[in-house]
Amino acid sequence: MSRVYNFSAGPAVLPEEVLKEAAAEMLDYNHTGMSVMEMSHRSKAFEEIITEAEQDLRDLMNIPDNYKVLFLQGGASLQFSMIPMNLMKNGTADYIVTGQWSKKAFQEASKYGKANKIASSEDKTFSYIPDCSDLPISEDADYVYICENNTIYGTKYKTLPNTKGKTLVADVSSCFLSEPVDVTKYGVIYGGVQKNIGPAGVVIVIIREDLITEDVLPGTPTMMQYKIHADAKSLYNTPPAYGIYICGKVFKWLKKMGGLEVMKQRNEEKARILYDFLDESKLFNGTVEKKDRSLMNVPFVTGDADLDAKFVKEAKEAGLENLKGHRTVGGMRASIYNAMPKEGVEKLVAFMKKFEEENHV
Ligand SMILES: *Cc1c(COP(=O)(O)O)cnc(C)c1O
Repeated sequence: MSRVYNFSAGPAVLPEEVLKEAAAEMLDYNHTGMSVMEMSHRSKAFEEIITEAEQDLRDLMNIPDNYKVLFLQGGASLQFSMIPMNLMKNGTADYIVTGQWSKKAFQEASKYGKANKIASSEDKTFSYIPDCSDLPISEDADYVYICENNTIYGTKYKTLPNTKGKTLVADVSSCFLSEPVDVTKYGVIYGGVQKNIGPAGVVIVIIREDLITEDVLPGTPTMMQYKIHADAKSLYNTPPAYGIYICGKVFKWLKKMGGLEVMKQRNEEKARILYDFLDESKLFNGTVEKKDRSLMNVPFVTGDADLDAKFVKEAKEAGLENLKGHRTVGGMRASIYNAMPKEGVEKLVAFMKKFEEENHV
């Protein structure tokens, strides 16, 4: 067996320890004589799995009691519709567009009500986060929407927008559990887990209780109502049970590592190794404004598409995989989520130095 350093943006690297545990429990989970994949979601064994997973997440993020934690399906993308369908009581919402994911969320919301694009960084290919200290927030906005870490472009909000008292809704798919957060600043925090937590197929929604009501847009499907899932404790229908089980293992791994404060330090240290090199390199350049750099997704380019392709190919041969940038940005992107060891980033930088020596003109 040989594992590579996997820099994929998602689905992405998971802690090896978690994968090994899951493998060991594959045929017989905790003396049940069956795999978690095979058991009823109404069984006692699964009830314990989902209850513990929720509690561990609550501990990690310090989630207050007046927030529900929902384990749902449909990916982060289904939330682009669920959010307006459940929250647009006045039919108005404000969107800050900092990349493709918030743009898609904005376009989707426009189907259901008046979605206002109150700020955008599209003028410079989403390479920065706009100043959000004094935005024209709509009087009757039901919420203000952001994508907190932009997976494709590699930017991250370092301070949350001033929403002038309106509910903040955040897509945190690619920065989930990468550092501590103050949950009370948000109405909704959600993310697909396949970036920084677990296998694709689960989306976690952390939502303040007063936002969960029966007053949803007419025609909202039952399966898309937060209240249905909240009342049923995420067991209205068959949940993505195996995925939730793996997420639960990752939560336990994070707790064992020391929690989110420790993850933040580790992530800062890893990102610094890469950014410091990019800042001194004569061949490679980071593509985003320094003040807005993400700790999780690091895009970079040589400025020569052929050389970029050569880099990606040779890196793969050296066991450094999935470094090709998103098709809309080109170049390279290294996603260095929680489960990427520091050693992986050091190997990447060593490889980049060698490549630079061999290819710099
Ligand atoms: C990947 C990603 C999405 C889309 O996730 P799906 O689960 O594929 O729908 C949305 N938002 C962000 C920030 C992402 O990184």
